[in-house]
Amino acid sequence: MTDDSTPNLPILESLHETMTGEYHPQVRMSPRASSIGHPCERRLTYSILNPGDEQPPPPLRRWTFAEGHMHEAMLWKLLQDAGHIGKFHVLSNQQPIVVDEDVDGRRRVLMTGHTDGFICPNDTEDRFPLEIKSMSIFGWRKLSTIEDLLSSPWYYIRGYVDQMQAYLKGTGANRGVFLFKAKQTPAAKDCQGTPVPIKAIWVNRDEERIEAIMAKARRVMDCVESRTLPERIQYDEYVCKDCAFQHLCLPDIEREGAIVIDSVEAEQLIRRLEELAPAATEYAKLRKEFSAQMRGITEAVVGPFEVVGKEHRRAGYEVKETQFWQSRWKRWQLDPVEAGVTIEETAARGA
Ligand code: SF4
Repeated sequence: MTDDSTPNLPILESLHETMTGEYHPQVRMSPRASSIGHPCERRLTYSILNPGDEQPPPPLRRWTFAEGHMHEAMLWKLLQDAGHIGKFHVLSNQQPIVVDEDVDGRRRVLMTGHTDGFICPNDTEDRFPLEIKSMSIFGWRKLSTIEDLLSSPWYYIRGYVDQMQAYLKGTGANRGVFLFKAKQTPAAKDCQGTPVPIKAIWVNRDEERIEAIMAKARRVMDCVESRTLPERIQYDEYVCKDCAFQHLCLPDIEREGAIVIDSVEAEQLIRRLEELAPAATEYAKLRKEFSAQMRGITEAVVGPFEVVGKEHRRAGYEVKETQFWQSRWKRWQLDPVEAGVTIEETAARGA
């Protein structure tokens, strides 16, 4: 006889443990190319001076990172296969990059990083740095050009451009390419005539932008060497709330007024109220109109509906004084859900 009782295996619990296991922040001596676009130099400095204080990402975010690596590995494998039949080949997955300069005969490292590889035409010596990014289908739909990256409401997407410029500086290349992959397979209409559901955005070397990120890296390195911290950015709920060093940095910030309620249920309640509000208003208006139209009719048939009505009398009463609390809501910041980026994805910014 087969034993059909459910095996007592802690599959999900073990996966959770894997995702919440020990977290070892990278010890680094200079800013990472992938973070150089971050709007806060103080945060970049913390990550070098205080790596042991970096808060581990929450489990869902770690899950998102792991998923991103899977998508990247898949696309890399496909690129290798495509290279065998095409006019290019790919080279050097996770190639280290260093951006440095000579300061009075001393080599000063400003940024380090790893490209996802290089796309190399078979008929020239060119090597174009390659960066693979995966994202939700909603975010993916919004990105088709370099302008889309630069005008993104999300600082980490704008930062992609700085990341690529750092790679161009570090490799000496004049152009690089992003390959954007949606985590869900898009519909054919989303692919805008391209043969595969991948978007390629080429980026030209931009000396002005390179100089700006090198200047930023110099300021960070000055602070690192003098063991000081740059000024905080003006408090930004979206950037600071997500910062792995907020526990070191934020206690000094005096915020008057609002408290932060970190409750998914409360947020969902407000979202649902927002969804229902227009319908509730319309319902009340039409209900009144319906009663006005049917006034005096005690019984009727309207299409498939039976309508009944009668006169009601409401007893008069005095409204006693009471105290009650009424809360209202209004939107105060860009909404990640409306912007088409999942909460988990906003976290996958590599900062
Ligand atoms: S909490 Fe805000 S100001 Fe402080 S380091 Fe982080 S991002 Fe910068």
